[in-house]
Amino acid sequence: MKVRVAQICGFCMGVRRAMDLALDAAAKARPPVFTFGPLIHNPSALELLRSKGIEVLDHIPEKGEGTVIIRAHGIPPGEREALEKAGFQLIDGTCTRVVKVQMLAKHYSSLGHTCVLIGDRGHPEVKGIMGYAGENGVLVSSLEELKGLRLSGQYIILAQTTRDREEFEEWARMLLDRFPGGQVFNTVCDSTRKRQREVRRLCRSVDAVVVVGGRQSANTRRLAEIAAESGKTALAVETEEDLDLDELRSFGSVGVTAGASTPNWIINRVVSAIEQVPGRGEPLAGRLLYRLLRFLHETTAWTALAGGLLALSCGLLMGLTPQESWRAVAMASLYLFAMHTMNRIMDRESGAYNDPMRARFLVRHRKVFQTLSLAALFAALSIALQLGTVPFLALLALSLLGLAYSIRIVKQRALKDFPASKTIFTSLAWTVVTTVVPWSHTLESPSKWAMVGIPVLLLTLARSALMEILDIHGDRIVGRETLAVIMGEEGLMTLVTALLALLAVVAVAAPLFSAPVTLAAFAAPAAWGLFLLWSFRRQRLRQNLRMECMVELLFLVLFAATWALSLLARPSI
Ligand code: SF4
Repeated sequence: MKVRVAQICGFCMGVRRAMDLALDAAAKARPPVFTFGPLIHNPSALELLRSKGIEVLDHIPEKGEGTVIIRAHGIPPGEREALEKAGFQLIDGTCTRVVKVQMLAKHYSSLGHTCVLIGDRGHPEVKGIMGYAGENGVLVSSLEELKGLRLSGQYIILAQTTRDREEFEEWARMLLDRFPGGQVFNTVCDSTRKRQREVRRLCRSVDAVVVVGGRQSANTRRLAEIAAESGKTALAVETEEDLDLDELRSFGSVGVTAGASTPNWIINRVVSAIEQVPGRGEPLAGRLLYRLLRFLHETTAWTALAGGLLALSCGLLMGLTPQESWRAVAMASLYLFAMHTMNRIMDRESGAYNDPMRARFLVRHRKVFQTLSLAALFAALSIALQLGTVPFLALLALSLLGLAYSIRIVKQRALKDFPASKTIFTSLAWTVVTTVVPWSHTLESPSKWAMVGIPVLLLTLARSALMEILDIHGDRIVGRETLAVIMGEEGLMTLVTALLALLAVVAVAAPLFSAPVTLAAFAAPAAWGLFLLWSFRRQRLRQNLRMECMVELLFLVLFAATWALSLLARPSI
């Protein structure tokens, strides 16, 4: 089935931050940990928080202990004081956009201005803002209230962040006409509006729209209404289990969007489940290609192929003989297959969130893949032995390190528990097995190795970081401090951009300093990587299968460029 995912869907910035703070608190904050009211309107996410030991605090007790997370809506200053007085440590998850409204209310109220807030009576965000406005706060929830309002003196008009922008502007104009001189602060958050605009756009290019989100979530319900208003079938689901697969078969293409409180991992599961359904009129070749890619992805064969292509390119660049090159290719493919498979089997917890379909597949066939990966590792070691003693010892050391990666050795901590270890170890393993081990049988000319090894390290670092971007939520849920979790999505994308830009500069500059012209081949995967980042920002690569397939193509691009340049550089006879 052809699936199109809305460019803007799922967690908004404020909800994502509150969720991240809660997950971090589960691992680090003073227990017991509470959220003050339900953090978001999504049963699966709330269930997850409960499973992490985070409970919901409904009222403020006289005495309490532990940590309380304030949700994105914020709270009035009185409640904040009461929580602190009760003895709780507070983690403030108030969305920065809501904080801005609270601060405007506080500032103008302290100047004696009346603060008119256009918002929904009883909404937690409104209660919080009104708390900051104090006695000078006036809430307007309906047109009748607006018409009955009497104002004197200076005043400002504020909006609850989730109000409809047009309605707010119209109401503010009506007030200004009756009571000139008021100051308007349009504090409506564009997040909801952008989602709604996006679902209208999506409806134009698909047969039906699946809206993912909690049944209690107002913004999710509104997205489904907008899809239905545009004449398309709108199917609202909380999880992939709610999908009616028979009904989906009657559509040729399906769009997917999600409310602001829907976690990414649920959107991913829904998308994967829909992709498996044969769409109306879908050509057989398309189905077969999808199945082939999914098989290669779930069995780690795609990764092994990518590793083989990298080793082949390195062989060409380092001037290995054809026999040495093919040995290096087989060794790298087998080693990377073995290590990635073993670690994925051992790392089931985060896999269940990051890539649930592959995790389920590996659990189902665990024994087969454990046996296959062990056999692959032995085969890789025996090929390394054929290359020489030093390559064998180098690969053996790398294998022991790889096997120890998920095993708790020091103070109940495994290597994978050390911050950023996933990115660093993965790229080191790729670099060592594709460059150091094949080169180590001669140990000749370290500069020859460095000319290839350093660009490969940059490229594999960028690859690992790109792969991690989609795993942020799963890794955070299981408490793993990957580079993506530490730096955040934006920070990581900046780092990948810098790595790829550096790689491109090295590739272009190296031949100017009498290095072989073939090294310029690294500019091609650098450009491909930058294109992937651009696609990711445009929400085109938000599913694991698509992301992994495209990222591993870095090495096909490198091989094609290396091969082409080596043909051009070959002296004509
Ligand atoms: S909808 Fe806007 S204001 Fe509300 S939490 Fe999300 S980003 Fe913040």
